[in-house]
Amino acid sequence: MREPAQGMTEELRRQLIAAALHARERAYVPYSSYPVGAALLTDTGAVYTGCNIEIASYGATVCGERTAAFKAVSEGERVFRAIAIVTSNGAAPCGICRQVLYEFGPTMAVILATPEGEVTWEGPLSDLLPLGFGPHELAEGQRAGS
Ligand SMILES: [Zn+2]
Repeated sequence: MREPAQGMTEELRRQLIAAALHARERAYVPYSSYPVGAALLTDTGAVYTGCNIEIASYGATVCGERTAAFKAVSEGERVFRAIAIVTSNGAAPCGICRQVLYEFGPTMAVILATPEGEVTWEGPLSDLLPLGFGPHELAEGQRAGS
């Protein structure tokens, strides 16, 4: 486990984990039985929650982290500060979710926890997605190519 993310108070961390745990209760997981809850903090101080939603046509399934991210963006949020993710085993987000989070929060904090509130890992998203490709790289590449 790492040091608590910069600028995150213990109370805020606990609130995010609690919100993620609550969102996890709404997970729709008839196929995997692996509920995931996420709570995303933006730079405005708002928190958006999400759960995973599985669809019988599996490709339409969406993770809890992306549900939270897309809810935030659809409400006008563009800067992510932190996300708490609760799973039965405190697992890390999948690669697709790491990429989505990187788009809006390359320096954001990630907190992984179990339903008992045990933090299994905490650190910057850049540790989960080193050398991430985002809007900056795309813009820089376009300039270099012109
Ligand atoms: Zn995912």
